[in-house]
Amino acid sequence: MSRPVRTRIAPSPTGDPHVGTAYIALFNLCFARQQGGQFILRIEDTDQVRSTAESERDILHALRWLGLEWGEGPDVGGPHAPYRQSERSGIYRQYAEQLVHEKKAFYCFRTPEELEAIREARQAQGLNPGIKGNLELDDAEVKRRLEANEPYVIRMKVPDEGVCVIQDRLRGTIEIEWSQVDCQVLLKSDGLPTYHLANVVDDHLMEITHVIRGEEWISSAPKHQLLYAYFGWEMPELCHMPLLRNPDKSKLSKRKNPTSISFYERLGVLPEALLNYLGRMGWSMPDEREKFTLAEMIAQFDLGRVSLGGPVFDVTKLRWLNGLWIRENLDATSLLQRLKTWGLNDERWLSLMPLLQGRVETLSDAVPMAAFMFAGYTPLTEASFAEGKLDAETRLKVLQFALWALEAQRVWTKEAIFGEIKTLAKWQGIKIGDFMQPVFVAIAGSPNSWSVIDSMEILGPDITRARLRNALEVLGGVSKKGLKKLEKEFESRPLN
Ligand code: GLU
Repeated sequence: MSRPVRTRIAPSPTGDPHVGTAYIALFNLCFARQQGGQFILRIEDTDQVRSTAESERDILHALRWLGLEWGEGPDVGGPHAPYRQSERSGIYRQYAEQLVHEKKAFYCFRTPEELEAIREARQAQGLNPGIKGNLELDDAEVKRRLEANEPYVIRMKVPDEGVCVIQDRLRGTIEIEWSQVDCQVLLKSDGLPTYHLANVVDDHLMEITHVIRGEEWISSAPKHQLLYAYFGWEMPELCHMPLLRNPDKSKLSKRKNPTSISFYERLGVLPEALLNYLGRMGWSMPDEREKFTLAEMIAQFDLGRVSLGGPVFDVTKLRWLNGLWIRENLDATSLLQRLKTWGLNDERWLSLMPLLQGRVETLSDAVPMAAFMFAGYTPLTEASFAEGKLDAETRLKVLQFALWALEAQRVWTKEAIFGEIKTLAKWQGIKIGDFMQPVFVAIAGSPNSWSVIDSMEILGPDITRARLRNALEVLGGVSKKGLKKLEKEFESRPLN
């Protein structure tokens, strides 16, 4: 008998809630619902350095805002709780140890230098230079080192010869040579699992039947398949969705398109329109209509209709579709209601009062003066920056550094934002006023407004970053080569 369908979205909380996450969640949800199954949410925070509670909170908020409800998850619980891998860390070691015991994995004591030497030796022999081959020590040596408390990781054994054959629901048979697959670390030296071990163990324990995820995970499939075989578990069916792309067909990246769901929320895209748009990424309704609801998508859902040609996430098209939703699905009262929930409300106006009070002469000045605080982008041209004292190159550098610093900024308060900018200006030896000028214009659209730090705090991280990116683009951007240099320089910045 086939098992009841269970799918999952398994985001790693390491940054802004990405539209790609919503896209994959949508397809998992539609498939599960269409099959009368369950869609669940699991947080994969095995990367303790990069995972943050803020990112997890934002991802949950964004998915829920879109209406992608999960039946089990870290916040709603469920029969397989906990649904956050950091709370499950006690579970994984025993599975890794079991594989060691069965000689399907081994303790590895190799240092990074030794691994590099092994890799080079393999390359010299004309083999694929992965992490495999001469890694294991004999039993007596392993015992001695364990007793001496030497640090180790647990790696899975992976064959070096032959071909791994993967079945993918969308792509059919995929063949990957085993020689290209590393002896993957399963358990790190701190005793915590890697993504691969935790992902397979949890998918098994949570009875996931279909793994629908982005195509960037295809290269992990051989390791996962081998782990299922090692454990003797039934493997979920694999389904690797095509990656979202920028209009120039490159992989969707925030350098070319805003990728944060929160940005689109702040921009005033309706959640149902964004879902509708994501539903058209590599998929279409049987009658090819462009506008449809989530319920309609679920009713008609068929994985067989996914096409693999890279779907393009095009903001212009999204805006057009959103316009249709606004015109066709809202009446005057509900549109006003949407505007209020979105941001045209007392709370937002109240935050602007101290700023407006210092500048308006009549009440009718207020709305035009505050307009940029409600806009997505501000209309910028190169001429908008004319008053600044910095030369063109330094101006770009300032904007780029400010953008990177604010992309990493998780605590969005005036103090934190100003702290970052002050540190950058000091480090660069640029007067704070001169440093701020291009940032000011990027955010306010002109050099005349109230404190830009206040504006940034109220506008929030998504709009702020998008405007800085837009300014960089309007000014021609930094060349690829220049960007590499700046990245290097930025890495050496003093931390605030
Ligand atoms: N944690 C992975 C991610 O961030 C999940 C990949 C998968 O679905 O297996 O996308």
